Amino acid sequence: MKFISISLFIVLCLLGLTISSCFKWAARTHKKIPNTTALNKTYNYEGKVIIVGAGAAGLAAAKVLEQNNIDYKILEASDRYGGRLKKDTTLADFPIDIGAEWIHSAPIVLNKLKGKAGNQIEEELIPYHLEETYSWDGQKYKKSSQSENDFMYNFMPESKFKNTTWYDFVNENIAATVKHKIEFNSPVTEINYSGNKVLLKTKNGEIHSADKVLVTVSIGVLKSNHIRFMPDLSKKKKEAINAVEFLPGFKLAIKFNEKFYPDAINCKVKSGEKGFYDIAFKKEAQSNILGLLVAGNSTEKYYKLKSEEKIVKSAIGELDRIFDGKASETYTGEYILENWGQHQLTMGTWTQAFLQKKSDLKTLNQPLDKKVYFAGEINDTYQQMGVPGAVLSGYHSIDRLLTGKE
Ligand SMILES: Cc1cc2nc3c(=O)[nH]c(=O)nc-3n(C[C@H](O)[C@H](O)[C@H](O)COP(=O)(O)OP(=O)(O)OC[C@H]3O[C@@H](n4cnc5c(N)ncnc54)[C@H](O)[C@@H]3O)c2cc1C
Repeated sequence: MKFISISLFIVLCLLGLTISSCFKWAARTHKKIPNTTALNKTYNYEGKVIIVGAGAAGLAAAKVLEQNNIDYKILEASDRYGGRLKKDTTLADFPIDIGAEWIHSAPIVLNKLKGKAGNQIEEELIPYHLEETYSWDGQKYKKSSQSENDFMYNFMPESKFKNTTWYDFVNENIAATVKHKIEFNSPVTEINYSGNKVLLKTKNGEIHSADKVLVTVSIGVLKSNHIRFMPDLSKKKKEAINAVEFLPGFKLAIKFNEKFYPDAINCKVKSGEKGFYDIAFKKEAQSNILGLLVAGNSTEKYYKLKSEEKIVKSAIGELDRIFDGKASETYTGEYILENWGQHQLTMGTWTQAFLQKKSDLKTLNQPLDKKVYFAGEINDTYQQMGVPGAVLSGYHSIDRLLTGKE
């Protein structure tokens, strides 16, 4: 009896803590969205700015420069813009996000990213409140209760774009006015900030000169030392860069003739995450597209397979075990695979700034001699994660660069 009452007490305490942290979590991210950004300010800056990288953060920073008629250009290593934002329109009858897909923050964040006032958003969203989910540990396939799904949704309400993508959102609202300033196929290999001007060397040997530079490459690219800084980065900065966990991973979208799977299957992994999910969830679509998102240790098993076809075959084999051969029977032979973890210009999937030590985040964000500044997902001071975090970091860092204020 004593045991029962103590257990009950502990359960009630845990429940209380959980419920209060649910509210805290939702309220916390919402409260951290800034009221105004650099888009709402005006700047009189005379010098030349170069942005390295045309992902969400680089494009956002450029939008501020464009708005204020400041002399700038963007050096992008690849032949496209968007970075970890990418869409496909060939596999299904709806556009698919091959990179970022969910809106993890409160929907109102979309207005902040565009610089639009008010609480009414224009985008049509799907609340990502799952109805039929299962777990799979390699042996047992088990249905999750609706209360578990409700709990997840209440703890961290998420949404998805209904007929569009994250790529479309950034393309239309941010890239549209700045894309003419991108110099594609220009991987920066060296940033020399020892003199009055900052000199950037690209792989093809060209030298670009600027008064100030904003570096927005992923933490994976910074870790890989593909860019040489002169003078070298401090020991403290290098340690802060290396302390950030940037998991390898990939996204696979497979097309089937039939929908034999539930909304989501959470797979048991030692670290990171792995899950199959219905990419067409609540979309008005006919195509049956199942996603597989893998990040962390379980990626290794797939990377060892060495070819895309073998990775797809392995995923279908796993589904066959759960669904008694149904996956092979209904597979159309069509898929899309984006291997972000092994992509030279990304070298990983995503980071979560709120998991890092505050002092490391501060160090990462520190400019070099007030000439070279940093932005990008990991430099998100508003803890919004993913794309909102990257865009807001672009606005925040360009404000610091233009004003010289900390
Ligand atoms: C599979 C996957 C799923 C994700 N899911 C979500 C999600 O659901 N929701 C969400 O909000 N976020 C998600 N994210 C994270 C989100 O995509 C990123 O947070 C965001 O896109 C990062 O933007 P960024 O500008 O900081 O960096 P990046 O997008 O990495 O942009 C950096 C740019 O720099 C360029 N570059 C690299 N090296 C050089 C060089 N040497 N010289 C010049 N240019 C260079 C790159 O080509 C790239 O264009 C996901 C990411 C992945 C990979």
